[in-house]
Amino acid sequence: MRKRLLDERTRLEGARAGLLDEDLQESEESATGELASTDQHADIASETVERETGNSILEQVEGELTDVDRALVRLDDGSYGFCEACGKPIGEARLEAVPTARFCVEDQAAQERGVRPAG
Ligand SMILES: [Zn+2]
Repeated sequence: MRKRLLDERTRLEGARAGLLDEDLQESEESATGELASTDQHADIASETVERETGNSILEQVEGELTDVDRALVRLDDGSYGFCEACGKPIGEARLEAVPTARFCVEDQAAQERGVRPAG
């Protein structure tokens, strides 16, 4: 499982680097004012949407990276595979599907419903 998490971490770091590169390129382009003056407004609008989408993807990637880091910490301290809310084993099938899972199915559902887990 550790190898899988480390591979996932490498993949996410690559995705993040790519997104940051893209972002850098875009800001360089707009800084050098390469946009043709005529369609400036339309292009700025579409660029803004693109930028916002890029940022939300970047946030998602960074969130997943945090999840992977947490899972690696739990592997180190031996709490990996146990639900952080009820302490019960999360189960191999679920960990196979979601290696960074912190909660069992019930508590994950409660989390998503916004119900604070017991304990
Ligand atoms: Zn639980």
